[in-house]
Amino acid sequence: MKTHLLGAVAACALGLAACATTADRAADAAALADEAAADAAAAAGEAAAPAVGEQPATAEGATAFIAGAETELAKISEYQQRVAWTRATNITFDTMWLEAKINAQVTELQVQLANEAARFNDVEVPADVRRKLNLLRLGIVLPAPNRPGAAAELAEITTRLDSTYSTGKFEFKGKEITLDDANVLIAESRDPAETKALYEGWRTISPVMKPDYARMVEIANEGSRELGFADTGAMWRAGYDMPPDDFAKETDRLWEQVKPFYVNLHCYVRARLNAKYGDAVQPKTGPIRADLLGNMWSQQWGNIYDVVAPATGGQSSYDLTKLLTDADYDATKMVQTGEGFYKSLGLAPLPQTFWERSQIVRPRDREVVCHASAWDVDNLEDVRIKMCTQVNADDFYTVHHELGHNYYQRAYKDQPMLFRNGANDGFHEAIGDFIGLSALTPTYLNQIGLLKTTPGADEDIPFLLKMALDKIAFLPFGLMVDRWRWGVFSGETTPDQYNAAWNADMLKYQGLVAPGPRPADAFDPGAKYHVPAAVPYTRYFLAAIYQFQFQRAACKMEGWTGPLHRCSTYGNTEVGQRFNAMLEMGQSKPWPEAMQAFTGETGNDATAIIDYFAPLNAWLTEQNRGKDCGWSET
Ligand SMILES: [Zn+2]
Repeated sequence: MKTHLLGAVAACALGLAACATTADRAADAAALADEAAADAAAAAGEAAAPAVGEQPATAEGATAFIAGAETELAKISEYQQRVAWTRATNITFDTMWLEAKINAQVTELQVQLANEAARFNDVEVPADVRRKLNLLRLGIVLPAPNRPGAAAELAEITTRLDSTYSTGKFEFKGKEITLDDANVLIAESRDPAETKALYEGWRTISPVMKPDYARMVEIANEGSRELGFADTGAMWRAGYDMPPDDFAKETDRLWEQVKPFYVNLHCYVRARLNAKYGDAVQPKTGPIRADLLGNMWSQQWGNIYDVVAPATGGQSSYDLTKLLTDADYDATKMVQTGEGFYKSLGLAPLPQTFWERSQIVRPRDREVVCHASAWDVDNLEDVRIKMCTQVNADDFYTVHHELGHNYYQRAYKDQPMLFRNGANDGFHEAIGDFIGLSALTPTYLNQIGLLKTTPGADEDIPFLLKMALDKIAFLPFGLMVDRWRWGVFSGETTPDQYNAAWNADMLKYQGLVAPGPRPADAFDPGAKYHVPAAVPYTRYFLAAIYQFQFQRAACKMEGWTGPLHRCSTYGNTEVGQRFNAMLEMGQSKPWPEAMQAFTGETGNDATAIIDYFAPLNAWLTEQNRGKDCGWSET
């Protein structure tokens, strides 16, 4: 979805690789979507956007305008969500047609409201009204300018970009494969010729996107300037209760806090890859070859745990997937277990409608979108998840994650419509990830009877290494996607520099290089879903930091004295109470106040990550002794 309506965003587990693609949408369905979108856009053009009515530029006028806007948004949002749910759980030409039509209408309404909100820029209004006026201006990811035809051109381009990505295929070993196939192959292959072919093959789908992408940037920038922002990147950075430039500096500061640890992990992994593949494939010094890390974008490295596991004692004494199957879990029991965690914190059970209306397993008779996502269909009680749940360790984590969105959504349902959202966009992802940190501990698995005895301290390093390969390896990637886009939106990076700048950011932040020279027409950023789909990415970087802040604070609250990575907050109602106090605030206050309500802290702080991984960092330092760590950033 290009447009998301405040408070009504279907949120998905993007921190996880599982959510990083829409390629499970069938190819012909995506081609249909293209056609349906064009058709519906034409139909939408005929229907005028609902009018909110002109209000005088006074404080009373602003209050009345906001009241009208919230009523309109609540109404159209519920309609949009029901259509979107219908499409996602039953993909046909008609459901796509309906979704494209309502999305175009919602965009028109959002642009209209954002422009009307600007009329009150110089009017003195109460603080909550000012906050809502600002949220209206910030509520559109890609704003179309007001001139006739612009919204339609933008919609056409974004639909085409999305379809190109979703239907992307390339030839591998004489067979045409999809991204889904490629993701599995690159995770499992330990042949550098194969991983190189997969890395380069997937990136053949994106050069065609480049002219569309450049045009999209032009149009969205024009729309952003009409709303009073320097460019679209500045608009994206404006959603954090501080000036856009300060926010960029703040993310730099956070990165500097965790960078030494990342460099340590990079150094250790590079040495193990060198030992396995030799100098010709992975040299002992310099950047790591990006295709060797088990992930198409090298954003999480957990898939190559077998390559980098400690030489001795690297095995866990239990396998979560096996524990689940041995205990006869089915998909519903997985979800009930996730709900059980939130209930144990003193939060209310999910409503009966959750169980009646969610999609918990893949239906056998129709095309659906299988990516895990959490929905808030009526912005009140009608919360649901949409998953194709399997009984395994990954989905065990995912259900705990997704229900975090649902519990957040329900907690802020009594806020005014414009405040029904996460404190900032990093919070929504961090809630379920925080619960997920507990859910993965042997402590919790023991608490819910899956594990008879908890393993000793000798399993700490393997556990933490596995976590770090996903959570720490992700940090520079979580940062660099929008670093690249901010440069593109500001004009600092011109279309002829798109690919060089992307690969330069990969080197600078991640310390990675492509497995070979990139072709002159390459557009590698287009091969990452969130770029063609225009989903801002810094939220995942923030979420990766917040979840550890939440974990550290919660464990302190419950008086936990052991290592943080063994702390489970399951069953602690005091933690639950403070947690809920934060959740209930939604987006009604600047995010530091929400952070404080739960953690007592008022800022972003990456030291919680350092605390959590301290034993691993010490171990890595030991392993890296005598090695020349780091890489040249240019
Ligand atoms: Zn999520």
